[in-house]
Amino acid sequence: MQLLPTATSTDVQKQQPRVAVLPVGSFEQHGKYLPLITDTAIACVIAQEMAAAYPVHLLPPITISCSHEHAAFPGTVSISARTLYAVIDDIRASLARSGIHKLVIVNGHGGNYVLSNVVQEANVDGPAVSLFPLGLDWDRAREHGGLASDRHADMHAGEVETSILLHAAPELVREGYADADHDGGARPFLLMHGTGNYTESGVIGFPSLASAGKGKAILESLTGDFAEHLRALGEAAVPTTPDADGHIHNPVIDRLRTVDRSQASRRFGGTVLAWQLSRCSAPTTSPFPSLCRRLWNTVRCSRVPGWSSSSWTFSAIRQTRTSVI
Ligand SMILES: [Zn+2]
Repeated sequence: MQLLPTATSTDVQKQQPRVAVLPVGSFEQHGKYLPLITDTAIACVIAQEMAAAYPVHLLPPITISCSHEHAAFPGTVSISARTLYAVIDDIRASLARSGIHKLVIVNGHGGNYVLSNVVQEANVDGPAVSLFPLGLDWDRAREHGGLASDRHADMHAGEVETSILLHAAPELVREGYADADHDGGARPFLLMHGTGNYTESGVIGFPSLASAGKGKAILESLTGDFAEHLRALGEAAVPTTPDADGHIHNPVIDRLRTVDRSQASRRFGGTVLAWQLSRCSAPTTSPFPSLCRRLWNTVRCSRVPGWSSSSWTFSAIRQTRTSVI
């Protein structure tokens, strides 16, 4: 598995992204069968999936974060919450200097509470930073993947984490997960007494239930939900696919370019709308916000299960027609 992004400066220049995606992982124990880099690998996998589906600038991960609750286990390394805050602040300032003012933080470690404060502060003057996946995104992903455990009971090195790695990086999963289930109970003082107070092995969850198929379904669900975060940031959420030369195309826009203007007018309920689409405007910058928002809300991959670039295009256009006209 390739953890780091391999884009060149020229790629980014061509793409002209408006949103950056920053994976935040950790370096902490994950039982005897998952590596210390588990959260980093998972954050990178999720961020890569998003970057493959949407026009965002994929950043390399932060690989050490706030894992103090795991300090009693060998190998775990942490930085303070204030350092993590400062690093993200610096990254945002650097991105802004290069014209990228929106950021999605893809967090792979639940102990990074400070990230919520980063988001809380960053958005005071308007949407700028989103934290992904949120609890609701994880719940939907668990449901979509048919996971048997819930988010509280399956907290660490369990069904969800093992499933994602079995799908995306099976070489990182060692033998032993099939008989490592551990119910950590209510855990009210986890942050005071540490993870070790609730588990001897370091596991809190049900890795025996994990499968690569569940991991794949989890990522599919998250890819759909990511669109909500882009929209919340005031950005267009239409997926993009690169061609063989690495050029990014927007399937809806490409399709529209092949349609005659008058035909587009009939199909999409007005030349204004077609014109808006051909300019790929985000709803918030449109002079006809409610009409365009309605359209953009319809054109979303999360409502088209199992989309691919071509099937997604036609499904989206079909849905758009029935919704808008
Ligand atoms: Zn983890």
